[in-house]
Amino acid sequence: MSVPIARRLRPFGTTIFTEMSALALRTGAINLGQGFPDTDGPAELTEAAAAALREGRNQYAPLAGVPPLRAAIVAHQRRCYGLEIDPDDGVQVTFGATEAIASAMLGLLEPGDEAIALEPTYDSYGAAVAMAGGVLRPVTLRAPDFALDLDELRRVAASARRARVLLLNSPHNPTGRVLTRAELEGIAAVCVEHDLVAVTDEVYEHLVFEGAKHIPLATLPGMAQRTLTISSAGKSFSLTGWKIGWCSGPPELVAAARAAKQFLTFAGGTPLQHAVAHGLAEAERHTAPLTAQLQANRDRLASGLEAVGFAVSPTQGTYFVNADAAPLGVTDAASWCRELPQRIGLVAIPTSAFYADPADGRTLVRFAFCKRPEVIEEAVGRLTRLAG
Ligand SMILES: *Cc1c(COP(=O)(O)O)cnc(C)c1O
Repeated sequence: MSVPIARRLRPFGTTIFTEMSALALRTGAINLGQGFPDTDGPAELTEAAAAALREGRNQYAPLAGVPPLRAAIVAHQRRCYGLEIDPDDGVQVTFGATEAIASAMLGLLEPGDEAIALEPTYDSYGAAVAMAGGVLRPVTLRAPDFALDLDELRRVAASARRARVLLLNSPHNPTGRVLTRAELEGIAAVCVEHDLVAVTDEVYEHLVFEGAKHIPLATLPGMAQRTLTISSAGKSFSLTGWKIGWCSGPPELVAAARAAKQFLTFAGGTPLQHAVAHGLAEAERHTAPLTAQLQANRDRLASGLEAVGFAVSPTQGTYFVNADAAPLGVTDAASWCRELPQRIGLVAIPTSAFYADPADGRTLVRFAFCKRPEVIEEAVGRLTRLAG
């Protein structure tokens, strides 16, 4: 029996990460492809999780999430950004940010509605919009600096017939860009003019380097009432396997996401929710050393890439640095990345995988630096084999 995958999911296939991680495993290469840390999160959090397991916190959580985690999210948004959130109707805990994004799209979009997103886009966005029957309308960020072209955003918004959502990611994966206040003000104006709901993916909110600052769109004048803010414990605490995420904002928007989330997974990860509540209460204490290490890794990797001739884009946050391989004579980074493990024992991701039109970013390569410093050092050593 041959069963075709439903048409709306057919374009998405297997992600580039699955392919490249399998390649890393097969060849024994260093994997700077998929963005996950190679060290454990803070022992305090894993101990809190173990305690919660032993204390019998092992049954369904309430749909909205366990009360201590919702309280910790509310306190975090107030402390870090001055945002006032209702702990009952203003927060929804999810199975990672991924489920929050999917729930928001399923809860907000009617079939045929359009969602505007900056591309290169995180890989789940297109699929989440498609599962909701929506249409993704990309606004392209271009190397070397990946600045937002506000005129292009305005053009896309003006030409859309049924734009309903603006799905924003800053700090931005895969470019490492942190949007400036001026860019965010431009985005806010477009949201107001076209009556868009903003859904913001802020999973790298704490992983921002010297000289840059993360500004949640919800903190801009008039935006709190139309913004659903998404984050997750995975990146902030190096616990990507826990999949504890959340969205917060005005009750009407949270209700839309909750309506879908209720029937996707209802609730899950009860002991981990308790542990994340513990971590979030002092998030900055846990994230400051992580961010310092990531910044040092970024600097080491970027200078190693520059030394062998890549044109390296600036990275202000996240796990990622993008480098243009064109100066090395590369014309197609996708095939070049597939050969790299055999050549020098290193895996990286062609940034073109994140663009709707792979011709954009054709010679760009994304390297993840959320690895131990000795791994970054070894990767830089292997990269020098590309020179000469
Ligand atoms: C990692 C990542 C996610 C997924 O977060 P989870 O909590 O693991 O589901 C979402 N958005 C971006 C931009 C990411 O990099």
